[in-house]
Amino acid sequence: MERKSYDPADIELKSTGKGEVVAAFSIFNEVDSDLDVVLPEAIPHGVEVPMSAYNHKSWGDQLPVGKGVVSVDGLRATFTANFFDTMGGRDTHETLKQLGPLARWSWGFDVVDSERGTFNGQRVRFIKKVRLYEVSPVLRGANDNTRTLAIKSANTQRAILESAKRQLDQFELEDMKRRFEAEMCTAQLVEAKDRFTREHGTGYSTIAESAVDIDVKAAAWGASARYAPRLGINPDAVIVRWFSPEIDSGRVTRFGDKVDGDGWADFYSMPGTVIYGLTRPNLEPRTIRLNAELSPVEAVFTTGHEIAHLAGRDEAGAREFEAQIRREAAE
Ligand SMILES: [Zn+2]
Repeated sequence: MERKSYDPADIELKSTGKGEVVAAFSIFNEVDSDLDVVLPEAIPHGVEVPMSAYNHKSWGDQLPVGKGVVSVDGLRATFTANFFDTMGGRDTHETLKQLGPLARWSWGFDVVDSERGTFNGQRVRFIKKVRLYEVSPVLRGANDNTRTLAIKSANTQRAILESAKRQLDQFELEDMKRRFEAEMCTAQLVEAKDRFTREHGTGYSTIAESAVDIDVKAAAWGASARYAPRLGINPDAVIVRWFSPEIDSGRVTRFGDKVDGDGWADFYSMPGTVIYGLTRPNLEPRTIRLNAELSPVEAVFTTGHEIAHLAGRDEAGAREFEAQIRREAAE
């Protein structure tokens, strides 16, 4: 259903008993704001149609307020109608009387036949035949074009909302993608680190004594004081140094690789192994190195093991001494 309004200067309200209106509602052979040209034969002459409640409200839930007959001449279509003796009819009649030239009219129709063409240099739609349903008084500015605009603006708002939603969806997708990629990145780092550790072992760096848990330090010092004398070593001469594994996924290291700017990975364990302690008697007399992540108990046995190396024992000898002190501790 389409609607058009026309701005005639000559609405005539006839003062008959129940009220009558004569209103031009369409003009022929002119380009309107819809770029339509209504041809004179388009609107059927003599057809009787209802008068809608204001602003075509009879398409909704409001009763028609009158009915009338359409007459057509070569220039325009005119609606000559009577108001019903109903509340709506009387109110509309009175309202139109008061409005006078402010009143506007609009018609509701379906296009039955039309044709594209050119009119005075403009591309237009020639409306050749319509099915007319009703004629309605409308508010000035509330005519078809305005109504069309309102619909357009509602559609525009909807389009903006839908576009915003699409953008949000897109943003969410991108965000999920970014997060996924970040997780992938972390996973790849962890995987790379794991793979690296499997293939190359773990790097270890010397750390400050102050960074070591006091219970672990105390256990190592106590073990040194207890076992060094048994191995012929002066406990006061034993230096304990600490190291920790490079366990950060971002700090995958190889022996000789620089670690976080604070030093170099000093050594590394073989794949699948953990270094508890380390002694290099020929290079570092009386220095034992302990893994700072040992428990206090393991720090005791590892200290004994490393001091055995300091005393000149080979790996078998150091293990034998370690086994001995473990047995003693268990008794
Ligand atoms: Zn050893």
